[in-house]
Amino acid sequence: MASFEDVMPTAAEVKGALGAHGVGDTDRAVAVLVSGRAVERSTWSDSVEVSEEDFDRLLAEGPPVPDVNDLNGAKFRALDPASRGATVRRCTECMYRPANGRCLRCNGAGKLPAGNDEWVQCSACNDGIALPCPVCAGSRRAVPVKLAYGEDVVRRFAHIFLPELPFRLREPLTLFFKNRSSVPDVLSIDLTDDFAAADAYRGRRSRAEVKGHRADAALALARNYVERIHRLPKMVAVEVAAFAWPMVVGARAGEADPGFVVVRDELGSVCLFA
Ligand SMILES: [Zn+2]
Ligand SMILES: [Zn+2]
Repeated sequence: MASFEDVMPTAAEVKGALGAHGVGDTDRAVAVLVSGRAVERSTWSDSVEVSEEDFDRLLAEGPPVPDVNDLNGAKFRALDPASRGATVRRCTECMYRPANGRCLRCNGAGKLPAGNDEWVQCSACNDGIALPCPVCAGSRRAVPVKLAYGEDVVRRFAHIFLPELPFRLREPLTLFFKNRSSVPDVLSIDLTDDFAAADAYRGRRSRAEVKGHRADAALALARNYVERIHRLPKMVAVEVAAFAWPMVVGARAGEADPGFVVVRDELGSVCLFA
């Protein structure tokens, strides 16, 4: 289907679908389908000491840009902005180490008694010389900072917004849209576009339309839904795709209220809901 119009059922198809019943008043409307991904970022912070090297790296890096395509999610650590001016101090991690590097655990022997005159190698040192301090690597200089630890999780969302329809038609139509294997690209819309319908005599109207199809209710609900996702406190990135799927809503001949919907599926078949 190459255009929006190709997805619209024709008057002849609507007539054909209704068969002997006959078609009364019809109206063109759209359902709005919304799907997307959002990055939810959780952070917690902790006060730690880091080496000068680490500090420089943290100053340069900053937290990563949230990526809606990173389905594995990202884990990161970043400098708390309040710690950008932190200064070097004596490393407290190795404050009480002897200057000559002697291991305090085995007292420089490099091995520990294991009973029965047996000895095991000391894991805290290398032949009696303590392993380098894990914070300052032996420089004895460290920067006390607040680090933010973060985790990004990509969340998917999807929703179907129908036009105003008789209640009994809503459920089968929702199911119809849920079961679509794909949505024709030609139905893509940008929810931020202005869909106000033009009126030749009075200028703009509040009525919203997508290519001549009534879109008021579905469009308003879809926009509201996306706005709510944007406003969720931990959402740091949101990517949305929206589609307007046309349908004919009509009354049978001689009836006043809408009683059927005719819609074309992604493979071209015309479906009647009545
Ligand atoms: Zn030791
Ligand atoms: Zn240290």
